[in-house]
Amino acid sequence: MLRTAEEFLSGLADGREVYFQGERVESVAGHAELGIAARHAAIDFGLADDPRYRTLAVTEEDGEQFSYYFHIPRDSDDLKRRSRLIEVSTVEGATLVVLIKEIGSDAIFAMTRVLSRRAEDADLSARLTRFLARCRSEDWSLAVAQTDVKGSRASGPSGQTDPDLYVRVVSRSSDGIVVRGAKAHTSCAPYVDRIIVLPGRSMSEGDEEWSLAFSVSVNAPNLKLYASDFLSGTGDEFTHPISARHRMVETLTVFDDVLIPWADVFFVDRPDLATETALGFVEFHRFTAVSYKLPLLDAMVGAGLAVARANGTDGAGHVRDKLTWLVGYAESVRGLCHLAALRSDVEGGVACPDVLTTNLAKWVFARDFHGAVERLQDLAGGLLVTGPGGRDWRAQEVRPVLEKYLAAAWPGQDRIAVMNLISELTTRSYGGYQAVLAMQAEGSVEAEKIALWRAYEPTRALRYAQTLGGWQEDAGGHHAGLGR
Ligand SMILES: Cc1cc2nc3c(=O)[nH]c(=O)nc-3n(C[C@H](O)[C@H](O)[C@H](O)COP(=O)(O)OP(=O)(O)OC[C@H]3O[C@@H](n4cnc5c(N)ncnc54)[C@H](O)[C@@H]3O)c2cc1C
Repeated sequence: MLRTAEEFLSGLADGREVYFQGERVESVAGHAELGIAARHAAIDFGLADDPRYRTLAVTEEDGEQFSYYFHIPRDSDDLKRRSRLIEVSTVEGATLVVLIKEIGSDAIFAMTRVLSRRAEDADLSARLTRFLARCRSEDWSLAVAQTDVKGSRASGPSGQTDPDLYVRVVSRSSDGIVVRGAKAHTSCAPYVDRIIVLPGRSMSEGDEEWSLAFSVSVNAPNLKLYASDFLSGTGDEFTHPISARHRMVETLTVFDDVLIPWADVFFVDRPDLATETALGFVEFHRFTAVSYKLPLLDAMVGAGLAVARANGTDGAGHVRDKLTWLVGYAESVRGLCHLAALRSDVEGGVACPDVLTTNLAKWVFARDFHGAVERLQDLAGGLLVTGPGGRDWRAQEVRPVLEKYLAAAWPGQDRIAVMNLISELTTRSYGGYQAVLAMQAEGSVEAEKIALWRAYEPTRALRYAQTLGGWQEDAGGHHAGLGR
């Protein structure tokens, strides 16, 4: 049963324990700041209801209609459609990803593949299938809490002075397991129905108590969400054309001895599954990431072109050079994103975007993001931080002065609108948020490089170079004799 945006928002009033700026939040949807993020999330339900997007956003199996996010991708075409849906919903979100079904389905697809690998895990697979069926039939919104707070990065979970720095099992009974610990940066957690909790790293023998995955209702007793206020206070649409109406909120997600019924436990005490799930999830999730980055990149290119015209600099050689760089950057990420879908491989009936290409796309995006910001700021000029505020612009006395003196090749009003968009994208809190999102979310830049290196199969390149150079070395890299 597909839900409407209103049904989604009213469903959030369920006693969940959310804290914002030091206070317990009575109503997430009705809250002055969190309500903006909840309404942004509701875009997802609006798409399924909108005749323009319904055929993209909704699918049907066995007579049941459900969100396309919960369709298991079977081939490259399914991945392309999924990527398109993520892109379109982010366009509706004004460059900000919606992320209330994208990330949860990434987790489900990854676990479906992992649990298909061993016959003895058939019961766990069946449990996951039942969970997916409920996601479809109840049209659930989902967050994923993978990143543990982690303590010292020099040690894994068993090397920490406090064992709770990675989420872990503290007891088991016939009812289920009791979990303790905290996850960081959990996007959308205050305004979703359920959170899927995944291991955040490879686990080894001895790490059993931290090797678990489960789902939990956001209003479960003893689950506490401490929400970030980073994007709050950006209510003026003149200077904040995006973040006045579009927000995403992350939480410190604390499990203060939360009972997880067995039906909601995907696995526990399994370092093997934990390792494979941690790695498998990010492969789907980085594909989601590069799909949702595309509208942001289009906005940056479009704003760069517009500001050059507004300033009257679009004929200059160095300006054309910067714009060409921006176009090349955006289209590289777009092309790699599509290629990742085309090169997909199928395991356990689930198509996964190509690991090397996905990580390359995400790495190119993250590596060059600050270069794109630099070029946009260079093209725009100092008005990005010295321009008028909304109250100036609306003041009858002030506005004519601003219109006269801030005009260039374009009238002042339009030029300032472009400046405010670029300022929002690159200098204000939304720009800062996007910059950190680019570097860290879905894994740090180093994590993408590690995954790319692991996925690269060097034989072809080595053999070819060897043929050209004529040295002797076997595929393992051992030198077997002298070259010619
Ligand atoms: C806006 C935003 C939204 C996010 N949403 C989610 C979400 O919904 N769910 C979720 O689970 N996570 C989410 N994340 C978390 C994201 O995946 C992490 O930020 C990322 O994995 C980096 O982890 P960290 O922030 O703990 O930084 P760290 O892991 O501390 O990394 C900081 C730096 O240290 C380096 N480093 C870390 N460990 C080591 C080591 N052992 N040796 C050498 N170098 C190391 C890293 O490469 C990086 O350069 C989100 C992050 C952001 C910024």
